[in-house]
Amino acid sequence: MNIKDLINNYSKIKEARLHGRYITNQSIESCLKDLEFNYEVIGRSVEERPIYGIQLGQGKNRVLMWSQMHGNESTTTKSIFDFFKVLKYDKEFSDFILEKCTLYIIPILNPDGAYNYTRLNANKIDLNRDAQDLSQPESRVLNTIFEAFNPHFCFNLHGQRTIFGVGESGKSSSISFLAPAQDEERSITNNRKIAMTIVADMYSTLNEYLIGHIGRYDDAFNINCVGDTFQSKGIPTILFEAGHINGDYNREEVRKYILVAMLKALTSISKFNNKSCDYSTYNNILNNSKSFYDIIIRNALINSNDKHSVDIAIQYDEVLIDEKIEFIPRIKAIANLSSFYGHVEIEAGRKVVKSSSGSVLKVTNEIDFVLLNNEKIALKP
Ligand SMILES: [Zn+2]
Repeated sequence: MNIKDLINNYSKIKEARLHGRYITNQSIESCLKDLEFNYEVIGRSVEERPIYGIQLGQGKNRVLMWSQMHGNESTTTKSIFDFFKVLKYDKEFSDFILEKCTLYIIPILNPDGAYNYTRLNANKIDLNRDAQDLSQPESRVLNTIFEAFNPHFCFNLHGQRTIFGVGESGKSSSISFLAPAQDEERSITNNRKIAMTIVADMYSTLNEYLIGHIGRYDDAFNINCVGDTFQSKGIPTILFEAGHINGDYNREEVRKYILVAMLKALTSISKFNNKSCDYSTYNNILNNSKSFYDIIIRNALINSNDKHSVDIAIQYDEVLIDEKIEFIPRIKAIANLSSFYGHVEIEAGRKVVKSSSGSVLKVTNEIDFVLLNNEKIALKP
């Protein structure tokens, strides 16, 4: 697979039926019906929605991947269906990967969360803290497939909020990866080394396009997380986190780079040879930092007689309205935010900034636009 060719032709290749942030079972069902591969219902959610699984390929490397364990993290699901399109588009690549790998893919593990656009399942449980208890039907479905399929590699596909930057660089974290720890000491075990090598390969390829915008997710050990649990069972496991690129709140841009990451990872696995485990690049990836807000208004006066100016941070709430995700601006902080960055920054130049009704701004206010020097400034993306 030629990555440049893929990126240039992406708009023709991608699964055009999936777009935006609201991706549910209903969204993917027509795509599933068109697949040349077998799919099956592998279980049901709390609210009895089907959980689908797709198996393809006949290679010796068994790769298990699941997406939308957190129902509102839909970008990687779009990338999965883009991947099926790539297999159709590039026969040579398809033959190669499917000869080397057997893939088992769960596109939406938490269909109730997807439907309600929530991180949690219908019992308000975070499935990514249920890996030991297996208290939820969705957790048990994943565990049953894990036991039956007996993977050599696991891809844990997620989406991260817009709050993350890459280290202290001032660049947003558009994608992050992690080879999760499998013990408190964060030991670099053999399976972690393999996961780190694959991450290093993805990073090297993607960093040509997303220069400086790739981070490493927090690696604090928590055995209740699925990635940490599967890693502790000796299976190289990789966390993928789709993040924010510029004004792309629908995450149509980053889905393409997650697709590239998946293609690169599968290529690495197909060519993998245990003797050449070079993961040194993994250690060069800077950690994610919580350093971004959606908008920062700089040097604002809250009251006209204020002596000192402040910064105003605004973050979007993602709200499901009529089967679409609306981004509702809300004030998160009014303070000196010089160590933070805004995806959008507005300079107030020590002028008074008021709410749309002319009242004084307060933290937690929902606010579609502000008055800056009596001029309306819209805040919605
Ligand atoms: Zn997640």
